Amino acid sequence: MAGRKLQAPRGTFDVLPDDGAARRELYRRAGSVLGRYGYRPFETPVFEDTDLFARGVGESTDIVRKEMFTFEDRGGRSLTLRPEGTAGVCRAYVEHGMHKLPQPVKVWYWGPFFRHERAQAGRYRQFSQVGTEALGSDDPTLDAESILLLAELLEAAGVREVRLRLASLGGIEARAAYLDRLRGFLREREGELSEDVRDRIDSNPLRAFDADHPGTRAAMEGAPRLLDHLAPDDAEHFAEVRALLDGAGLSYDVDPTLVRGLDYYTRTVFEFESARLGAQSGVGGGGRYDGLVEQLGGPATPGVGWAAGIERILLAGDGKLGGFPAPVYVALAGGDRRAAFALATALREAGVRTELEQAGRSLKGQLKHADRLGAKAVAIVGEEIEWKDMATGEQRPVNNVAEAVRIAVGLDA
Ligand code: AMP
Repeated sequence: MAGRKLQAPRGTFDVLPDDGAARRELYRRAGSVLGRYGYRPFETPVFEDTDLFARGVGESTDIVRKEMFTFEDRGGRSLTLRPEGTAGVCRAYVEHGMHKLPQPVKVWYWGPFFRHERAQAGRYRQFSQVGTEALGSDDPTLDAESILLLAELLEAAGVREVRLRLASLGGIEARAAYLDRLRGFLREREGELSEDVRDRIDSNPLRAFDADHPGTRAAMEGAPRLLDHLAPDDAEHFAEVRALLDGAGLSYDVDPTLVRGLDYYTRTVFEFESARLGAQSGVGGGGRYDGLVEQLGGPATPGVGWAAGIERILLAGDGKLGGFPAPVYVALAGGDRRAAFALATALREAGVRTELEQAGRSLKGQLKHADRLGAKAVAIVGEEIEWKDMATGEQRPVNNVAEAVRIAVGLDA
């Protein structure tokens, strides 16, 4: 019975085969870069207790207030599709007593995340992130290493025109004192601020720096800056992170207006943007979250990490990821299907990427198709096997399957 035409839900997308190859290649390169920095793969569930995100990400954030996919299971428990990765990793760190392992514990993840956002190019409701977390040390080399690692990954993925914004949000106490000053500043200018910012003067005044609203932006020009109010040890930590990045030759802009959309950050925060992306220019970002594990009921444990969007990396990339080696095409010219199948199998077993005629085309159609697939050679199975080199156009008979395999393997070498 014909029914309504089905479509993927709003804000989701299908990964079509060309994109699938690029994603696989990105995954491979990410694993290689991350492994070199000593990060090990880690997976947490796609859904968690809602409470984890409310406590971990922060009740006042956009993510928790407006963007979570939350549902009840059949037992009436509230569950949420994960909107970000750090809270789950911290939950697992505590649950598995990973503070007893040698510190820092360095892990990376890759997978789907969910936010109920207004869908547009580069902004989806199901998207994928690759990310890292390093837990159990506040050493500034971990901050610098995280940043360098993401820079290297973006480079390896062909992302260009990248800008790195860097700031420090300081420690919890100095930040609390600063936030009081900022609240005072905002209250004096309530009339100029957007409703959204006004509503959050108490709960999340930092978000005022992030506003698009013109009045708010103008008012914020004169706002006190957190970077000017860091406690001495936080200022020293930030100076050390910068010195390490300078030493590594990585350029960045210190941006006192950088605030990230999650509440748990302390000290270092950073964001990579690419001019190749439109309005959604953030490719990846992160920072230090020294209070988060404790907030989730674990022992006091510093941590630092980042997440980058797979789809944005691919959008900002040079489109050269993925692809497979050129295949050998096995064509049928009135020959025996079983012989052609056996030849294709022998080639594949020898490690040669092989395509086989499987749609009943004429020989002319098959050669055209082989060309379209970028085949480097066509083995034409008729009475005998003919070998056609697609680069030179030269065609010659081969004696048997073994010889065809030898030639094909030779082309790959
Ligand atoms: P965030 O944790 O919000 O800083 O997100 C980290 C990265 O994930 C961003 O820089 C984006 O590359 C990606 N990202 C976040 N939200 C979305 C979304 N709704 N759609 C696509 N990518 C996203």
